[in-house]
Amino acid sequence: MRIDDAKLKALISGAKKAGLNAYAPYSSYEVGAAVMTDEGKIYLGCNVENASFGLSVCAERVAIQNAISNGERRITAVAVATRDKDMPKPCGACLQVIAEFADESALIVTISENGAYDVRTLADYLPRPFKLGVD
Ligand SMILES: [Zn+2]
Repeated sequence: MRIDDAKLKALISGAKKAGLNAYAPYSSYEVGAAVMTDEGKIYLGCNVENASFGLSVCAERVAIQNAISNGERRITAVAVATRDKDMPKPCGACLQVIAEFADESALIVTISENGAYDVRTLADYLPRPFKLGVD
């Protein structure tokens, strides 16, 4: 899938903005995410940690839950930004959740602290997502 520069810019700035709200007192690894729907709407999320670590949720899943709870069902791009010098990568759990609402050509945009970004597809990260009842 292709994305025009204005939409890419909006996604990147949305992910960075969302990261400012990250709740990461345990890891200090602050992450923001922005997802774009098939109609071009953008929804934001940040990571939300918990003292019971297993309850912590990644920014990507928070952004997707935000989109879904607003009635959206199709996602065409996900951007993830950190305030870390290294480029972030979505975790396996988030990739599987993205795959529930996006096809394999959906874009995954990762953004590091210095503003460098990388654009790949969901298939690059998760070529064979789990699908119930499908081989
Ligand atoms: Zn994750």
